[in-house]
Amino acid sequence: MRSFNFSAGPATLPSEVIYQVQQELPDWRGTGMSVMELSHRSPEFGGILSQAEVDLRELLSIPDHYRIVFCQEGASAHWDMVPLNLLQGNTRADYIETGYWSYRAIEEGRRYCNVNIAASNRIDRYCAIPEQSEWRLDPKAAYVHYCSNETIDGLEFFWIPDTGSVPLVVDMSSHFLSRPVDVSRFGLIYAGAQKNIGPAGLSIAIIRDDLLKQSAPGTPFLMDYHSQAHAHSMLNTPPTFTIWVAGLVFQWIKRQGGLAVMEQRNVDKAALLYDFLDHSGFYRSQVKREDRSRMNVPFHLREPALDEVFLKEADQHGLHQLRGHRVVGGMRASIYNAMPVEGVKALVTFMADFERRYG
Ligand SMILES: *Cc1c(COP(=O)(O)O)cnc(C)c1O
Repeated sequence: MRSFNFSAGPATLPSEVIYQVQQELPDWRGTGMSVMELSHRSPEFGGILSQAEVDLRELLSIPDHYRIVFCQEGASAHWDMVPLNLLQGNTRADYIETGYWSYRAIEEGRRYCNVNIAASNRIDRYCAIPEQSEWRLDPKAAYVHYCSNETIDGLEFFWIPDTGSVPLVVDMSSHFLSRPVDVSRFGLIYAGAQKNIGPAGLSIAIIRDDLLKQSAPGTPFLMDYHSQAHAHSMLNTPPTFTIWVAGLVFQWIKRQGGLAVMEQRNVDKAALLYDFLDHSGFYRSQVKREDRSRMNVPFHLREPALDEVFLKEADQHGLHQLRGHRVVGGMRASIYNAMPVEGVKALVTFMADFERRYG
């Protein structure tokens, strides 16, 4: 029996990449050393880092006036790094609240500035994305922050907000590289690795050149985007192993045909699962159709008393880590790039069978 991992993160990685890591681990390209043992200042690791950058640039068609920074901190660190680097003496910033992760960014942002929540769907229990016409943006804000895929609530933006000349900052952690993106619409994009890129221990920031300025006084030096970009992500020892594996994932995506191919697969996988949910009276999905995430699919059993039985039987069928996040309960299937369509089919088959037996 094949098994599938629906964890939201750390999440499933392409099995091809896992086997490549296994094969290349003891002796990386005849160096007699594992990548984990290579000096980060060695030409070998330098090559790994710059190849990862080149591949990422190609995948996302990142324009030349954007810099890529590999950070050792998780996505959460950018909730501090963004205000520390982008406020530039301004005391106001706009935040959009659409779910758990954007809310966490707001809470952290409040330590540094007057946060204007320009739009919120909290009263709708995070079930739909507020339309841009309802947003109350502050034209004097230092930046607008939002989260384009809410990992826990299962909402995804399929449009890019228009913020005029105010830089747009986005947390793309859980759908980064799931489809093509017009990078030029953003001031700053950041994403943690362990959702759709690689192992935990890395986040990536893509920053427009003109936003790389002196950070606020007192900023820890590792949290300064400008210094990190200047030092080519080598202010200190970077997470070498994680960067290597992320680079292998970039090459895997290129071999699949790039982001347009990933998008089509993700569309197909998500449609399989949502169509099933829509035709079932036994399970329900709360998110508004237009805003449903292709990556993270939360759903509930109408009879929560069956939750534990569902999870136990799913495990027995090789379908793992389906428990929803503790703040929303229920179930969640994360179906990132590396989840094969067979995994989603197996899940739907199991869910239909479970419904027949318990519905
Ligand atoms: C997982 C996640 C985070 C937190 O990432 P860490 O790497 O644990 O800091 C932040 N934002 C989003 C959208 C996430 O999915």
